[in-house]
Amino acid sequence: MRIALPKEVVTACHLLAEHHKQAFVVGGGIRDLILGSFPQDWDLATDARPQEVEEIFTRAGFKVIPTGIRFGTVTVFISGFPVEITTFRVESSYHDFRRPSKVYFVEGIEEDLARRDFTINALAYDPIRSVFCDPFDGRRDLLKGIIRAVGDPEERFSEDPLRMMRGVRLAAELGFHLEDRTKHGIVRNAELICRVSAERIRDELSRTLLALHFMKGLQLLTSTGLLFLIIPELREGWLFSQYHPSHQYPVLEHTLEAMRYTPSSLEVRLAVLLHDIAKPRCFSRGEDGRGHFYGHEKMGARMAEQILRRLRYNTQMIKRVSVLVREHMLDLKMGPAGMRRLIARVGRDLIEELLVVREADFLAHSRELVLRYLVDFEQFCEKLRKIIREENTFEMRDLAIDGTDVLAVLGCRPGPIVGRILKKLWNEVLDDPARNTREYLLPRIREIAEELGWKGDF
Ligand code: ATP
Ligand code: MG
Repeated sequence: MRIALPKEVVTACHLLAEHHKQAFVVGGGIRDLILGSFPQDWDLATDARPQEVEEIFTRAGFKVIPTGIRFGTVTVFISGFPVEITTFRVESSYHDFRRPSKVYFVEGIEEDLARRDFTINALAYDPIRSVFCDPFDGRRDLLKGIIRAVGDPEERFSEDPLRMMRGVRLAAELGFHLEDRTKHGIVRNAELICRVSAERIRDELSRTLLALHFMKGLQLLTSTGLLFLIIPELREGWLFSQYHPSHQYPVLEHTLEAMRYTPSSLEVRLAVLLHDIAKPRCFSRGEDGRGHFYGHEKMGARMAEQILRRLRYNTQMIKRVSVLVREHMLDLKMGPAGMRRLIARVGRDLIEELLVVREADFLAHSRELVLRYLVDFEQFCEKLRKIIREENTFEMRDLAIDGTDVLAVLGCRPGPIVGRILKKLWNEVLDDPARNTREYLLPRIREIAEELGWKGDF
């Protein structure tokens, strides 16, 4: 095992051993190494107290940052390579469900491992003596591909409910199976997830959505009830029949099916997850008995915005996802002017994502509909891409004139009329980009002003 460890990690262990301190590689590092993937970060556990760790590494000439000294963690940099070193510890009660209210340092690695979430994360390796410490059979579970809580699952999840999301996320990342008692521990404690901070939930949700086995993650989030607690609005679509021959699935089942066709992009996956969020609230039935969902894309965009804000996603993500939801009902019969307007509304840097969202949504319709419109859809995408490639007027600032020109032609002071005229001209240019010349636009200023009832006064 030592051979596979980065030499910086081994150096850190040696230095601690020279000072008669224990040093174990723990957590995700050792787990990922055994699985053959390269770990994201390296954690060591030691019986040295944080101040001692600081002293040992500073004296040896390494850079040290006391990252979480209150929780016993010091980060040392060996040739610029960060290694987190944490003193053996246990945690007291989790009052606010965020951080343990207090930590206690303990003497042995076994006690430290017992406070960890899953057996595959509660595994330690001492590279100096070449010994594993594996009191919960983490290696067996790693080999079998099982996520199992350390100790009593219910107790562990009620201590820190985020572990439920971590368990699902690990299953999705590693393609592992959630052991039955662990899964039922989640089912019975799912409601507690509401006490966890939105940021921590968001981070785990994002990682689950981007995981290699993300469909497994979604299936687990749904079957344990966690999904409906994180995004209660999704529950409205569960088993909600669409009464339409284009749909073979109810609303949420259609959404989950559409997720299967998404590429690994967080904004696309969030957009597809939320694209029909407002359908149940917009439902009506025509005289022929068919279901309709008029306006669900607009209401959906507003709901998506609220949901993502609640989960503390950043402004850019919220904006882009809600545009994707708002525009997901692409009309394949749209002509070139409609396409230019679409590009103007969406922005050219989001168009490819929109096509991908539409494609995923489309492929999750009835087989009959997919077969009927596949060619139309492909041709639509080609035409839209051609316009993007060959034209360059997609934002109002690409207009060949601006507000100063309007003021100069009309000889007036700035006022709302300027914006209204520019918008009209912009629409004319979207209908026919050849009009985007000063020769065409300048004379149109006065004509439009008069059409708008402008008489030279404000
Ligand atoms: P990754 O780094 O891929 O996210 P990880 O398992 O290393 O996975 P970290 O957040 O780096 O996750 O945590 C390091 C270790 O700390 C874990 O392997 C686990 O042993 C322990 N741990 C982390 N979070 C918790 C928690 N909420 N409850 C109990 N133990 C935890
Ligand atoms: Mg880690």
